[in-house]
Amino acid sequence: MSDSPTTSDVLVIGGGPAGYTCALYAARAGFSVQVLEKLAPGGQMATTDVIDNYPGFPQGVTGFDLAEKMKQSAERFGVQTKLTEVVGVSLAGDVKEVRTKKETLRARAVVLATGASPRELGLPEENSLRGRGVSYCATCDGMFYRGQTVCVVGGGNTAAADALYLARLCEKVYLIHRRNQLRASKVYRDALEGVENVEILWNSTVSAILHEDTVTGVAVLNKHTGETTSLPCSGVFVAVGTVPESGLFKDQVETDEAGYVLADETTQTSLPGVYAIGDLRKKPLRQVVTAAADGAVAARCIEEYLAL
Ligand SMILES: Cc1cc2nc3c(=O)[nH]c(=O)nc-3n(C[C@H](O)[C@H](O)[C@H](O)COP(=O)(O)OP(=O)(O)OC[C@H]3O[C@@H](n4cnc5c(N)ncnc54)[C@H](O)[C@@H]3O)c2cc1C
Repeated sequence: MSDSPTTSDVLVIGGGPAGYTCALYAARAGFSVQVLEKLAPGGQMATTDVIDNYPGFPQGVTGFDLAEKMKQSAERFGVQTKLTEVVGVSLAGDVKEVRTKKETLRARAVVLATGASPRELGLPEENSLRGRGVSYCATCDGMFYRGQTVCVVGGGNTAAADALYLARLCEKVYLIHRRNQLRASKVYRDALEGVENVEILWNSTVSAILHEDTVTGVAVLNKHTGETTSLPCSGVFVAVGTVPESGLFKDQVETDEAGYVLADETTQTSLPGVYAIGDLRKKPLRQVVTAAADGAVAARCIEEYLAL
């Protein structure tokens, strides 16, 4: 339907599961679609060793394989992938502009699918122990620690929800929080009180992750006493927040105070023809399956929008 390589019906910014699912559905609906990806297709998913909770893979699937399959599924219907970083956007008006370092692309519909990333503790061992005891997602990795002792670092709703989730799987869960009360809402605080195998370590921070080949424990600094103790555990779940990749858009579409783009179940943002999907949008659960679902919904809404 478009008449030049720099013009498409739909431009998707971000080649994670949300972006590629939207591209697949939009291409199958007959639209010309380009996916713009700054690193490698697959997003956070591609950095994940095994994904066990995406339906249809009884043995699990590596994040890399699932990423490749999603990309190929979309490209089979004519989706083009451009490996390029988007550096600017003009999203108001009927024809939207998306700028990379080399060119300006135009489309009537733009899909924001740039994801989010977990905030790190900033400890030197943290990155090298990812997947070997350090995790940023209890829903994703909790099962691997069934019957073991783990700790959760944080004090907000996510940390509290993670501790509750892990308490059902693990023998013992330490919740390590730097303050003397949780920021989590009352419903979570009340729920935690009734759970015997969760112990909260107040006024405490993790000063080091102890390990051999995998995590063996954490060093916990009590900020009041100044004392550091070793806490044996096999998993460290970091739940100190996530950072949305919304810097390019937040002056143009509405976001919440944390920077997540506001879009409801229709994925429609505050601007007509602009959709926000996956981890980038405000939503209760950030997973591959919810990212993919957003992508499908957005394509349906785009179909209606472009038919106007
Ligand atoms: C360690 C870890 C393990 C996880 N394990 C699981 C699991 O087991 N099961 C599960 O369901 N979920 C898991 N998740 C969560 C899941 O990966 C995310 O919910 C999902 O990837 C979100 O998809 P998305 O498409 O919204 O965003 P992302 O996957 O974050 O993809 C966004 C893409 O946009 C690109 N991008 C960003 N800015 C630009 C730009 N300016 N220009 C061009 N491209 C850009 C990025 O490079 C990235 O490829 C895990 C997450 C992490 C971090």
